[in-house]
Amino acid sequence: DLQQAMAVLRGADVDLPPQKTLAEPAALLRHLRATPTPGIYVLLDFHPFLNDPVHVRMIKDVAQGYDKTPITLVLLSHEVNVPQELEHLTARLKLGMPTRDERARVVHRVAQEWQNQNRRAVKIDSTALEHLVDNLAGLETPDTERLARQAIYNDGAVTMADMPDVLAAKYQLLNRSGTLSYEPDTAKFADIGGLARLRQWLVSRKPAFDGSAPRLDAPKGMMLLGVQGCGKSLCARAAAGILSVPLLRLDFGSLYSKWHGESEKNLRDSLRAAEGLAPCVLWVDEIEKALAGSGESDGGVSRRVLGTFLTWLADQRARIFVVATANDITALPPELVRKGRFDEIFFVDLPNRAARADIVTIHAHKRNVALSPQEAQALADRSEGFSGAELEQAIVAALYTSHSLQQPMSAAMIARELKATQPLSVVMGEQVAALRAWARDRTVPAD
Ligand code: ATP
Repeated sequence: DLQQAMAVLRGADVDLPPQKTLAEPAALLRHLRATPTPGIYVLLDFHPFLNDPVHVRMIKDVAQGYDKTPITLVLLSHEVNVPQELEHLTARLKLGMPTRDERARVVHRVAQEWQNQNRRAVKIDSTALEHLVDNLAGLETPDTERLARQAIYNDGAVTMADMPDVLAAKYQLLNRSGTLSYEPDTAKFADIGGLARLRQWLVSRKPAFDGSAPRLDAPKGMMLLGVQGCGKSLCARAAAGILSVPLLRLDFGSLYSKWHGESEKNLRDSLRAAEGLAPCVLWVDEIEKALAGSGESDGGVSRRVLGTFLTWLADQRARIFVVATANDITALPPELVRKGRFDEIFFVDLPNRAARADIVTIHAHKRNVALSPQEAQALADRSEGFSGAELEQAIVAALYTSHSLQQPMSAAMIARELKATQPLSVVMGEQVAALRAWARDRTVPAD
C-alpha cells in the first residue's frame, strides 16, 4: 500500500484539487471514518492538528477500519510528530535529495532553457560543470534549479568563476539555523611563520582527503590547543587553503546563547548543513565552550550537545575535515582529547626564534615594509616569549610611530615597541608553564 501511496504522490506531483467543503480537521476525519469509498487521502500540513486527542482517536479509527474500507492517509509536512498511539500504524518516509544524475539533468535543462531564449549555446567548461553538479548536492530540486539558473544566466556560461557564488548561495540556503558562518577568507601557509610540522601533516593528508589516494583513510580532523595568539585560528584558515575547500565556522558559544533549549536540534541542523556543503573544513572555535553550562547545572544539555557532536564526528562519512581549536585546557572535557577522536592533537606553542623572524618579516611585508634577514633575526632575538599576535601588534604600533614622526618605518621602531611590551607569557607565566606541562604528554608540537 505504501508503494501505491508513493506512486500516487509521484504521479500527482501534489497537484491535487483541495477539498474545500471539509476544511475543518474534525469534520474531515469524521467524513473519512464514515465514507464507504476506498482511497488514498493526502493531508497537507496537518501536523499541528495531531496534538488533539480527538483527531488522534479518529485517525486511529480510520486506520483500524482498513479491513472494511481501505483508506490510507498520507501526511505531508516539513515535520510530522506522530503521536505514540499511532506509531505502530504508521510508516515514515523522508524524501531524498536529488541524485547526481538528477542534478546533472536539472543543469542541462536550465542550460537548454537559456539556449532557447538566447539562440546561442551556453559555454560550458567541463571541469566547472562537474564542480557545479557536485556543489549542488544536498539541495531540494527547486533550489538546485535556482542556483543552476543563477550560475548560467549571469553570463551564459558555466565556469569556475561561478563556484564561489554558488557556494555562498548554497550556504545561505542550508544555514537557516544561523550557527554556522561561511568564512570566505582562507589563508595560505605562506602567511604563517613556523608550524612546519603541522603544515607537513596537512599536506601529506591532502591526497586522502581529496580522494586522489582512495586507499588511504580520509582524515577526519585535528585539534589545536595552545597559547593565545599563536596562530590557531590562522591554521584553521590555512587548512582550508591547503585542502582547497571552503571554510565553515561553527560557534558553540552562539549555539547556546541564541537557541537556548534548542541547542541540540540546532547543532544537528548545523552539522547537516555542513554535510550539504562538503567537501569543506569545519572549524569549531573554542570547542571547550561546548560544555558551556558545565556539568549538571544546565540540566545536562551541554553534555548531550557534546555527545551529539562526538557521535557525529565518529560516524560522519562526508568529506568534512574538522579543525577544533581550544585555549582553555582546564575547561576541556577529557572525552574530547581521548586518543582516536581526532587524527591528531597539536600543541601550538609560542614561536621559536626562527619562527619569530618569519612572523615579523611576514607582517612587515604585509604592510609594505621590507626587513632585511639580519633585522628580522635581531628582532627575533629581542622577542623571546612573544606570541605571533603580539609581534604583529608591535609592527602595527611601530607604523603609528612612523606616521606621527613622519619618518619611514624602521626595525629600530619595532624593537622599541617590543621593549615596551610585557608579553602574555610573562604576565601569565604560570598559566603558560602549566599549559606546556599539560601538553607535553598529550599532544604533538605543531612546530
Ligand atoms: P586566540 O586563541 O586568542 O584566538 P589564536 O591562537 O587563534 O588566538 P590567531 O587568532 O590565529 O591566534 O592569531 C592572531 C593573529 O596573530 C593572526 O591573525 C596573525 O595575524 C597573527 N599570528 C599569530 N601567530 C602567527 C604565526 N605563527 N604566523 C603569522 N602570524 C601569526
